[in-house]
Amino acid sequence: MSKYEAEKRFQLIEFLGGRCSCPPSGDCWHESSCRVYDDRCLQLDHINGGGSLDARRRGGNGQMIAYYLKHLDEARRNLQILCANCNWVKRDRNKEVGTAQRRWLNNLLSRKIEKGSLTP
Ligand SMILES: [Zn+2]
Ligand SMILES: [Zn+2]
Repeated sequence: MSKYEAEKRFQLIEFLGGRCSCPPSGDCWHESSCRVYDDRCLQLDHINGGGSLDARRRGGNGQMIAYYLKHLDEARRNLQILCANCNWVKRDRNKEVGTAQRRWLNNLLSRKIEKGSLTP
């Protein structure tokens, strides 16, 4: 990712709240709402799935970000910010993960990595 792309991505993340939007939930790794806001750990997630399809239609991830920066209301409707951990948990819930990833995830969930240790 070029510096330019990284800045665009950061802009979009800031626009969408700049932190993980995962609510408090019993089946995620955190107990109260997730407070990760380090943008190195944050990912743009399509609320209703279909991310790869969307990216393809728009010609790749960079294009997708450029598109949503021009269509912010659409961005607010379709995208949310999740940290990497919450994104994996969501994928697991939607059965989008393979075996090795599942092992790693189960390990993560069973330890609940010292609650909130990822937040600064
Ligand atoms: Zn999170
Ligand atoms: Zn979560």
